[in-house]
Amino acid sequence: MLDGVKPTIGVLALQGDVREHVHALEACGAHAVPVRRESELAAVDGLVIPGGESTTISKLLEVFDLLEPLRQRLAEGLPAYGSCAGMILLASEVLDTRPDMQVLRGIDMTVRRNAFGRQVDSFETDLDFAGLDSAVRAVFIRAPWVEAVADGVEVLATVPSGPAAGRIVAVRQGNVIATSFHPEVTGDLRVHKLFVDTAVRPRAGV
Ligand code: GLN
Repeated sequence: MLDGVKPTIGVLALQGDVREHVHALEACGAHAVPVRRESELAAVDGLVIPGGESTTISKLLEVFDLLEPLRQRLAEGLPAYGSCAGMILLASEVLDTRPDMQVLRGIDMTVRRNAFGRQVDSFETDLDFAGLDSAVRAVFIRAPWVEAVADGVEVLATVPSGPAAGRIVAVRQGNVIATSFHPEVTGDLRVHKLFVDTAVRPRAGV
């Protein structure tokens, strides 16, 4: 799939499930490296923002002086993939969060934190995912959903049934992908492969 190219993909390593993403990316044939400083960010062909606690990661982006450099690289078209807390950080607007939370504006969307509520805050389901030929097992852990997207944002997956049926849980805009759920914990590499492929062959005209 990678045609002999081995892209260097960073995993933002301030907080969250960094190791699981590193393993998934390596299994896809990428060279995966943790990113904690600006020089490391400058050296990657793409970046994963992992699940964890989005307000904590936001705070640490400021502490580590990564917020503006990361916004800048995203604005220049850096391929990125955010899972769960990573999706929240990639949004242009976040609902139900702290007023001082910083967002990266990688995807023109409004995301609601902890959207599934306390009763069902962690669950699994199979869902159809645009571009993949069979269902993806989606693990949701205190997950967000996408409340609204702007024109130009592709919806890749929605919740198939239950009280949250129809809610948007995977999106793509240009070279940036986000999922509410955690493919890095299931052993199914297809979402990571989709992303690594984007980092090898970025879409033009971001
Ligand atoms: N609820 C977390 C947040 O708001 C996200 C949970 C996760 O990444 N698994 O950041």
